[in-house]
Amino acid sequence: MPGDIVRAKVPITFMYKNRVGQALEQYINGLKERKILGVKCPTCKKVYVPPRTVCGKCHKRIDQMVEVDQEGILKNFTIAYVNIVNGEITDERQPYVIGLIKLKGASSLISGIIKTPSLNDVKTGMKVKAVWKETTQGDYSDLAYFEPA
Ligand SMILES: [Zn+2]
Repeated sequence: MPGDIVRAKVPITFMYKNRVGQALEQYINGLKERKILGVKCPTCKKVYVPPRTVCGKCHKRIDQMVEVDQEGILKNFTIAYVNIVNGEITDERQPYVIGLIKLKGASSLISGIIKTPSLNDVKTGMKVKAVWKETTQGDYSDLAYFEPA
């Protein structure tokens, strides 16, 4: 029937533990200290956040860690109306924004939740800054979200 929403259970879960590797390990340890770390290619000077071990442009191994700014520009975003909890898609009571942010000093984009008083306040090109959890523990979620700067 037109207008009806078809719903189906999706039996997937993202709860897994794996060794993240040296570069991401340093990134996550940096988050615990409320620092956002990237890695800089000595040849082309690109700064990747989160860090990676090989430059996507030069294909050379890179390991020079650099701290990037906690402010950046929102380059793109989408509004999410669902979440995945324990493998099941759930409706969000409040739609939320997932953004792609180019931090000052970084060449790549990172994704993050964007919080603004209203969804209508979210615009590409706006300045945003990182907001940290009150207590950080060395986890991706230490960087809680981004808000207007
Ligand atoms: Zn390079």
